[in-house]
Amino acid sequence: MYKATLIPGDGIGPEVIMAATSVIEAAGVDIKWDEKLVGQSAMAKYNNPLPEDTINSIETNRIALKGPSTTEIAKGFRSANISLRQRLNLYANIRPIKSIEGVNSKFKDIDMVIFRENTEDLYMGIEHMIGKDAAESIKIITREASERIASMAFSYAVKEKRRKVTCAHKANVMKLSDGLFLSSVRNVASKYPDIEYEEVIVDSLFMDMVMNPEKYDILVVPNLYGDLLSEMGAGLVGGLGIVPGVNIGVEAAVFEPTHGTAPDIAGQGIANPTAAILCAVMLLRHIGEKATAERIYNSVCRTIKEGKYVTKDLGGNYSTKDMTKAIIDNM
Ligand code: ATP
Repeated sequence: MYKATLIPGDGIGPEVIMAATSVIEAAGVDIKWDEKLVGQSAMAKYNNPLPEDTINSIETNRIALKGPSTTEIAKGFRSANISLRQRLNLYANIRPIKSIEGVNSKFKDIDMVIFRENTEDLYMGIEHMIGKDAAESIKIITREASERIASMAFSYAVKEKRRKVTCAHKANVMKLSDGLFLSSVRNVASKYPDIEYEEVIVDSLFMDMVMNPEKYDILVVPNLYGDLLSEMGAGLVGGLGIVPGVNIGVEAAVFEPTHGTAPDIAGQGIANPTAAILCAVMLLRHIGEKATAERIYNSVCRTIKEGKYVTKDLGGNYSTKDMTKAIIDNM
């Protein structure tokens, strides 16, 4: 039996996370879930969006499945998601962007994985006003963090038999910060002569990704560009409802769908559970339950391809529970 932390989250979070745990259970993998709170639900109970109790649970179990959560900015707390990444040193965000047959999207054969550096860049939130009419935000890039994300991307490429790693940057303008990121990735690339390596300026990558996305395989990017590219990548394969992700470090891995809390549809039981279920697939691969992971993945694809028992955003008329049941039946 495995142990993992379960964070249902806010909005549609509990609906889609429950779908994911029921699929894992039906597939026969025994996970003892330690349920904890983050975000709005944690605020309501502890007046703290990221309780210590939740951190302790993830530190102990080293694995968590988490729904989307929100932090009310007005209450003066930092985003619980950013704090969680910093507290647990989840230095990489990995997002597989893969076409699923039957999802309405402009492209068919996309299969890329984005490795986004998760701890620094403009996301460190080091900013201040200079007088009242100017603001300064500081971009931090270090060799250590850049080499760490690059090493993770290259070792994944070797392990998963991928063909190419692309580094996106803007070192032509930010010669020092992006220049350091680029030279760090290049340094790691030199240790992997069997993996093709290319460097692309991020603005031209954006253009090429909407024209020839099937050209890309593994992408390694600093934090901010990674945020933008991952969101666009989700759009290329048909939207946020189907894209999973993980924030991962040495000590822990937190699997979380890329979509938000979707307040407009929360509580209606109509959210698409695919992203959350594909998070469960990633979690199972991570703990070594590869065969079960493939079985669930194939079942998700089959259910979507058949196109009958799917949610509204996928062109169907069925509920989260109906779609989850169809996925379980197809297993
Ligand atoms: P947040 O502030 O938490 O990011 P948001 O509404 O700004 O919330 P999303 O939650 O990602 O951002 O939602 C964007 C749009 O996509 C909404 O219209 C939402 O209903 C839709 N959406 C997001 N996730 C799903 C899902 N799993 N199933 C169906 N629709 C979804």
